[in-house]
Amino acid sequence: MAHHPVSFAIHGGAGDIPRRDHGYAEHLLALETIGESARQALQDRVPAIDVVEQAVRQLEDCELFNAGRGAVLNSEGVAELDASIMRGDGACGGVAGVRSPRNPVALARAIMEDGRHVLLVGAEADRACERFHVATAPPDYFVIDSRVQQLRRAREHEAIVLDHDEPLGTVGAVARDRDGCLAAATSTGGMTNKAPGRVGDSGVIGAGTWACDDSCAISTTGHGESFIRVNAAAQIHWRMLLRHEPMTAAAELVIEQIVERGGMGGLIGVDRDGLVCLPMSTTGMFRAWAELDGPVQAAVFR
Ligand code: ASP
Repeated sequence: MAHHPVSFAIHGGAGDIPRRDHGYAEHLLALETIGESARQALQDRVPAIDVVEQAVRQLEDCELFNAGRGAVLNSEGVAELDASIMRGDGACGGVAGVRSPRNPVALARAIMEDGRHVLLVGAEADRACERFHVATAPPDYFVIDSRVQQLRRAREHEAIVLDHDEPLGTVGAVARDRDGCLAAATSTGGMTNKAPGRVGDSGVIGAGTWACDDSCAISTTGHGESFIRVNAAAQIHWRMLLRHEPMTAAAELVIEQIVERGGMGGLIGVDRDGLVCLPMSTTGMFRAWAELDGPVQAAVFR
């Protein structure tokens, strides 16, 4: 039986995160705790796809991050959520503009397992929760007070803002399991004060999420429009396969493209050999990772 060293990374969003006296101790603790359970699950031979879904569910449940409960609000004060998930054999699923699944990544996973479609959006995706036995929550479950204040500030400046500049963020996970299989998942509320119906990269396979057992697993965070324009996550895979670039070099190039197009952000990746990369154009990205059976590490700033 194959016995590959396991690796994973999780993120809670990238941005120009202001320095604070508390040093983001609460965020670091949440990332370390969720990271530790991902590490343990991988050690116990849980498949990468289950590990990334579970880690993203935990991050969605945590109010500190911009996904599930505590997601940012659109210009109408509503949490409209995007999420996607992909396994290294090509199976994938996504949702966009949903308002009711308690864990949007769970609905993305159900769509992946069903296999007929890849992406469901809006009210019909919300309705699919019942069919797929995915738990729902009422609209006020997702809305927390600090997000209402954040939306008020954004409206005053007529701005559409990346959550982590405030600073909090989109969530994601990538993993390589004992059998050498890869998986990735991403979930978000998007950007504060976004137009109703706007879809970012996090729900889009190839832009915000990608996994292929022959190359890498990627989850992105940042200005979603830029990540969609450069097909960020899949581009790293194609660079590795066709140009034989190492994941780290390919990922850094893609981040440069994002910046050249006026965007910003970061990503987490794990390659087929279990190496981890965490590049960003921003001052920070909430993240935790463990490489090749190593210990869990967590960091905020670059
Ligand atoms: N990428 C997300 C989006 O544009 C935002 C984020 O990373 O926080 O929807």
